[in-house]
Amino acid sequence: NKQFYLKKRPQGIADLDSVPLKESDITQIEDGQLLIENHYFSIDPAIRGWMRDEPSYMPPIELGEVIRSSTVGTVIESRHPEYSVGDVVYGINGWETHSVSNGYFLTKIPDNNRYPLSYYLSVMGAVGLTAYFGITDRSGLKPGETLLMSAAAGAVGSLGGQIAKLMGCRVVGIAGSEEKCARIKALGFDDVINYKTTDDMTAAIAKACPEGVDVYFDNVGGEILDAALMNLKSHGRVLFCGSISSYNATEPVPGPYNWWQILARSAEIRGFLVSDYFSQFASAAETLGQWLDDGKIEFNEEIVEGFENCLLAFNRLFDGSNQGKLLIKI
Ligand code: NDP
Repeated sequence: NKQFYLKKRPQGIADLDSVPLKESDITQIEDGQLLIENHYFSIDPAIRGWMRDEPSYMPPIELGEVIRSSTVGTVIESRHPEYSVGDVVYGINGWETHSVSNGYFLTKIPDNNRYPLSYYLSVMGAVGLTAYFGITDRSGLKPGETLLMSAAAGAVGSLGGQIAKLMGCRVVGIAGSEEKCARIKALGFDDVINYKTTDDMTAAIAKACPEGVDVYFDNVGGEILDAALMNLKSHGRVLFCGSISSYNATEPVPGPYNWWQILARSAEIRGFLVSDYFSQFASAAETLGQWLDDGKIEFNEEIVEGFENCLLAFNRLFDGSNQGKLLIKI
């Protein structure tokens, strides 16, 4: 078994000193367990949070433990009553070629599945569902309203913006390159802002959203959140989905400087965890599949070949060089 594990907690960007690769024998399974040969690994910003030793919605990865990640794989041995050899499954396992599971948070992919297996980690997996439930439910976005989306060319952002367009909203995206801006424009975003070439984000958002922002879908935090707060409409909402600008911070990060605008605009900040919607995942994934079939949404995957590239690929999330949902294929 090849595994990336947490040797020490990284300071800043995770490197091979903190997250080395090791080889070991494949663990023998016991009653109630199954052995999975993994094919695809999801490369998610959240993994950086799980490397920290601080309270969150999931326990931290312990020192010595394999790096936690969603995977798709095939069951190659089973002593679990609900799984047989040959079943293809997805769920939370780790950056390892073979995973032992007790079935917790694991889902079988139906035999008659018509989608590429990678979709169960992308458009029909956690990131697709984050965009879906974030936009259609938790944000409170209504048809005709204006949505501002950060990390808009990424996995969650590009899909969330398209879903808001399907709902009849005006959608403005913020992304970090001209190429990314052109890509989301082609997906139907009404306007785009390249934050890396814009000096005054508050003014740029005001120009793109002259009547103000009803919902800001925040994937990044930091200065962009501050600029969005200055443009919220009265009774506007901020959906707090992620804060990638601070994930590698080595010092405590201050809250938004423009926090007062929440009061001044009777606005709301809503925390959002896609796992709260677990019981509705299957039906939402069906809806997303149908939208793909009908050509109503498009989704970009960037699939990097080679298990040993997990860590290198992971760090690309933070320099923005990923083009859509980042996955590793063995
Ligand atoms: P993406 O595919 O969007 O990749 C991350 C992108 O973030 C990069 O491509 C980069 O794009 C942008 N970025 C990186 N650093 C910065 C920075 N300092 N300032 C601004 N933008 C930056 O990743 P995902 O779609 O997987 O995740 C997006 C967000 O959603 C993350 O914050 C993640 O933690 C969150 N999330 C939350 C969930 C929940 O349940 N709440 C579930 C899943 C994801 P660019 O080139 O535009 O800078």
